[in-house]
Amino acid sequence: MPMSNPPVLIDTARVQARVQEIARSIEADLAGHELTVICILKGSFIFCADLIRAIHLPVKCEFMGLSSYHGGKTSSGEVKVTLDMKEPIEGCHVLVVEDIVDTGLTLQYILNALKLRQPASLRCASFLLKREALQSDLKVDYVGFEIPNRFVVGYGLDYQELYRNLPYIGVLD
Ligand code: 5GP
Repeated sequence: MPMSNPPVLIDTARVQARVQEIARSIEADLAGHELTVICILKGSFIFCADLIRAIHLPVKCEFMGLSSYHGGKTSSGEVKVTLDMKEPIEGCHVLVVEDIVDTGLTLQYILNALKLRQPASLRCASFLLKREALQSDLKVDYVGFEIPNRFVVGYGLDYQELYRNLPYIGVLD
């Protein structure tokens, strides 16, 4: 079925350049350590794949499935763990990788849960951040771009499972 491409908010070149910059910051902060990256499915799989290939440190990659939007455009505020990790993270340097922080409830939930597993350090990266929508004092260690409070798709982000494969960030509203 033909589908028109949403208008561009952040083009592919800016997306890719920013991933490299974030990788450099992570390398500087975690120099000399092995890193356990936790990719939060599904939305962050593309950002995470680009990011780990840009990080020149030993990296292990784990996956967690969380859902908070249930296919719509507004947050339900409810977070469900749909897939948990197999490996323990006790004593590991952990980086949680998210696609977007909106209210911040999802990332806050996962960070609280992971803290209980006693990692050596716990950081988080989000490719996008809607600061206006943030409901907690959550500190995101690495942010790709701060964006306005609009519904975006592409670079892993979907609307009803479509648009994840766009190489840029587009606006749907
Ligand atoms: P939060 O818990 O911070 O309100 O929401 C985070 C999750 O909501 C993200 O991981 C993402 O799945 C979804 N989300 C929030 N804003 C958007 C958006 O603009 N576009 C898409 N596709 N998903 C969003």
